[in-house]
Amino acid sequence: MTLGVLGIGLIGGSLARAAKRLGHCVVGADASAAHAQEALELGLVDELVTRASLPGACDLLAVCVPVDAVADACRDLLDAEGEATLFDVGSTKAVLAKAVAAHPGRRRLVLSHPMAGTERSGPTAAVERLFDGRTVVLCDVEDSEPERVAAVRAFYESIGMRAVEQAAEPHDLHVAYVSHISHISSFALSLTVLEKERDERQIFNLASGGFASTVRLAKSSAETWTPIFTHNRDHVLDVLDEYINVLAAFRTALLKRNFDRVRELITAANAIAPMLPPQPHAPQTPPS
Ligand code: NAP
Repeated sequence: MTLGVLGIGLIGGSLARAAKRLGHCVVGADASAAHAQEALELGLVDELVTRASLPGACDLLAVCVPVDAVADACRDLLDAEGEATLFDVGSTKAVLAKAVAAHPGRRRLVLSHPMAGTERSGPTAAVERLFDGRTVVLCDVEDSEPERVAAVRAFYESIGMRAVEQAAEPHDLHVAYVSHISHISSFALSLTVLEKERDERQIFNLASGGFASTVRLAKSSAETWTPIFTHNRDHVLDVLDEYINVLAAFRTALLKRNFDRVRELITAANAIAPMLPPQPHAPQTPPS
């Protein structure tokens, strides 16, 4: 099997690494000549090809560019010569689903979102085992040819993922809750600390505690995340309103010295623990 990758960054490069571990050949292209060259030197891809020649050079073609570039890329690739099965990996789905709905090649494309990532970007961020044990969401599968869906599902399962199916619209609502709000929260926390705590040494000292894990996502790239918030604006706004209400509840309790209420809020929040996947490298007890 030959995997093609358009956009050889964190996700595209990690898919490439996972495919190569299984002995597959990988060909790739990237808008950035520097990234493309880096990907070749790092051994993420066996060969660089032009974007237009990708669909004729592989069996499965992963479109791993920022969400504001996915629709154009998919339409161009579906128009190009070649029969490869396309799948995107974008973090939002409803805008893409609408943008490709009328394309004659729509059924060759499978919409997917691998629920794995880090705060890093570019080819050097690629991690071979990024997808192990994680979930991939396949969206609007009835709009793709069943054999194309089966091929994409089989590939994801071969690299250790569990596939679930969901419509694009509820997918976007759910990721607003489980992913997008954590990023806004982390960006906001970083801005708050940077504004108030100008002593870099103090920040470094803080970062050695629980602060580092809470603010880790604030290192994520604006090129990836601004388009995600653009596409998922309405859902993110709804979630943000709820989040602001909870922050206000903490604020009110503290303002009124109502520490029973603070305890109540924390205890209620603890109910999330059994719902989270185990963290292999997490300390057994959370740092205080
Ligand atoms: P990334 O590390 O920045 O990689 C994206 C790569 O695509 C970069 O090399 C970028 O080059 C290149 N690129 C940008 N526009 C392009 C275009 N029109 N044609 C060809 N190449 C292009 O980003 P990423 O984190 O892998 O994100 C890629 C996709 O995965 C996004 O749709 C994102 O929503 C999705 N995703 C991300 C995560 C995450 O945690 N980061 C998780 C799941 C899914 P330049 O840097 O020069 O623009």
